[in-house]
Amino acid sequence: MATPCYHPSAFLLHHCPQRRKSKNMIRHILIHPDPRLKRLSDPISEISADVGKLADDMLSTMYDAPGVGLAAPQVGVNQRMFVMDCVKNPDTPPRPIVLINPEITWASEDLTTYEEGCLSIPDQYADVERPSEVRVRWLGLDGKTHEEQFAGLWATCAQHEIDHLDGKLFIDYLRPLKRQMITRKMEKLKRELARG
Ligand SMILES: [Zn+2]
Repeated sequence: MATPCYHPSAFLLHHCPQRRKSKNMIRHILIHPDPRLKRLSDPISEISADVGKLADDMLSTMYDAPGVGLAAPQVGVNQRMFVMDCVKNPDTPPRPIVLINPEITWASEDLTTYEEGCLSIPDQYADVERPSEVRVRWLGLDGKTHEEQFAGLWATCAQHEIDHLDGKLFIDYLRPLKRQMITRKMEKLKRELARG
C-alpha cells in the first residue's frame, strides 16, 4: 500500500511570498553527518531583530530548496526555532509559520506512517511512524504564545522539525543498517560536493 509522502521536494514553489523579498538570504543547508545537526538546541530568550532576520532567511531558504519545513540547526544555528508551510495545493494561499521554542503539548494515540525526507539528507526517503495528530505550543514572532492542533502532513512536519531541535534526524528511527547505508551515501555526497 502506498504511504503518503513527506518529500521536501513535494512543495510547489510558485506561491511563495518570501521569494519576492529580495533582502532575504538563502542560507547554506548543512548535510548530514554534521555535529551541529546532533546538538540539543538552546531556547530563544528574546525575539530580537536577529531572530526575525533568521526566520525570514529560513523561510526563503525553505521555499528555495524547496521544502515544507526547515529547522534552525539545519542552517547551523543551534536555537529552538523552525519554519514550515505544508500547503501543497497551488490554489490555496501559502501559510508560512515561524515557531519559536515549540513544544508538543499533546499527541494522539493514533499513528500514521509517512515516507519522510529531509533537506539535510537529500534524495533519501524512508517510512517513519509518528502520532497522527499533535498539539503544539510555540512563541510567535509577534511575541505571543500560540497553540494549534496539527494533522496530516502538518503533524508529521512539526514532529520532524522539533526532533531537529533535539539533535534527532528521521533516520534515527530506522534500523541501524539502513541508517548506516544512508549516512555512507551522504558522506560520499559531501566528498563530491567538496571537490566541486
Ligand atoms: Zn529534516
